[in-house]
Amino acid sequence: MAQRPEAKARRVADDPEGPSGVAQARVLVIEDDTDIRLLVGRELRALGHTVDAVGLAEEGLFAARATEYGLMIVDLGLPDGDGLDLVRELRRRGIAAPVLMLTARRKVEDRVAGLSSGADDYLVKPFALAELRARVAALLRRPTRLRESRFAVGNLVVDCDALEAVVGGVSLPLARKQFRLLELLARRRNHMTPKHMIEEALYGYDDDVSANSIEAHVSKLRRVLRAAGVAAVIETRRGIGYRLADGEPPRDG
Ligand code: CA
Repeated sequence: MAQRPEAKARRVADDPEGPSGVAQARVLVIEDDTDIRLLVGRELRALGHTVDAVGLAEEGLFAARATEYGLMIVDLGLPDGDGLDLVRELRRRGIAAPVLMLTARRKVEDRVAGLSSGADDYLVKPFALAELRARVAALLRRPTRLRESRFAVGNLVVDCDALEAVVGGVSLPLARKQFRLLELLARRRNHMTPKHMIEEALYGYDDDVSANSIEAHVSKLRRVLRAAGVAAVIETRRGIGYRLADGEPPRDG
């Protein structure tokens, strides 16, 4: 990360007031063609989604690491990198949101390469907006790795449908925020979860989050896990974040 895409990536087109009652997703669009980027963004916002749009692979990687997206739309040919490499990198970092690749290339080999790199679907430019809408709707409906609802980490089972964490048949006494924290860490098990991602998962945009509140939640959660005899541990990487480790060597960093 040599430059500073932060502000742009985080704040572009953030519209918290979409129409209520619509199944909304937060969507990241990574596309350097301004016309297409604006068009896709406008279309998705009209459907009630929140859209962050960037034009560079580097900005896209930053945004995807900072925010949990329900869907990412990635152009294959970006000025500072290949969209396929970007998707591979996202997957390597444990980011499992569905990816719709956009490309002007029509060859079948490209389609196969795109899908095997971790993209979930493919849209060839130029595309009709109706087709974009259909693909987006299908990907948002499709259960993804991110939306798995049960995670086993060592002897701990986190059941996101039952809102329950269980060890040896016993349900752990967790407050709501502690459960959400555990759920997030379990989804990203063995990967580092940055602090700001935890803040976004636990708090709304308008909440005041004190510097120590995440640490306080983590230390309470640790106490509960230890008391219940959970084998997995929450590791701290100072200034960066936390990792729920089941004993495997770290894959990040
Ligand atoms: Ca392009």
